[in-house]
Amino acid sequence: MPIDEASQRLADVRARIARSAKIAGRKPDSITLIAISKTQEAEAIAPLIAAGQRVFGENRVQEAEAKWPKLRETTPDIALHLVGQLQSNKAEDAVALFDAIHSVDRPSLVGALAKAMDKAGKRPACFLQVNIGDEEQKGGCPVLELPALLKEAQAADLPVQGLMCVPPLELEPAPYFALLAKIARDHGLEGLSMGMSGDFETAVTIGATHVRVGTALFGARA
Ligand SMILES: *Cc1c(COP(=O)(O)O)cnc(C)c1O
Repeated sequence: MPIDEASQRLADVRARIARSAKIAGRKPDSITLIAISKTQEAEAIAPLIAAGQRVFGENRVQEAEAKWPKLRETTPDIALHLVGQLQSNKAEDAVALFDAIHSVDRPSLVGALAKAMDKAGKRPACFLQVNIGDEEQKGGCPVLELPALLKEAQAADLPVQGLMCVPPLELEPAPYFALLAKIARDHGLEGLSMGMSGDFETAVTIGATHVRVGTALFGARA
């Protein structure tokens, strides 16, 4: 993708975020755009960095380890977010590489992350992922188990910034975003990681603080 095109796509997404924020009476800079670069080669990511984007997201630890150390050499101020399911045996690698982890969804992972953070002396921001539609095959903690998971995470000193969700495909996402926002509010959490290419404007009007946008920035994945 040429730099012109990357700049154009980035400007377009940012403008749409700003417009939705205004509608909701929010400040556009209270929303972090995470460019989801999973499956994209470094050559596809570089133009977006050149266009000024600094926050990126990946869904697999190994893939991120292969791509990002080199990209970060030339642009050290990049923040990297993990948005995919994390196995406990990858917790140390994830803590070493990422600045935020959006997929904390079970007590065993809380334990593994706490141990990894203590060992590394580094504490990436954490989002607890909620299976907001209570779907069978979906990652995320069941809605009813969230209070207990949050307690465990806080007791383990994980820096819990907020909640994350991926609503059910093919359903109107707004009620799910609103439910996540309510659960966060009820627990005094400020961060809301919600909204992807198809629904980030809706998410912003409902309070998203972090939107995770891949396709709208990079084009369709192979
Ligand atoms: C892939 C992915 C995204 C981005 O999806 P797009 O529809 O390409 O914007 C966001 N969040 C998660 C968890 C993802 O896996």
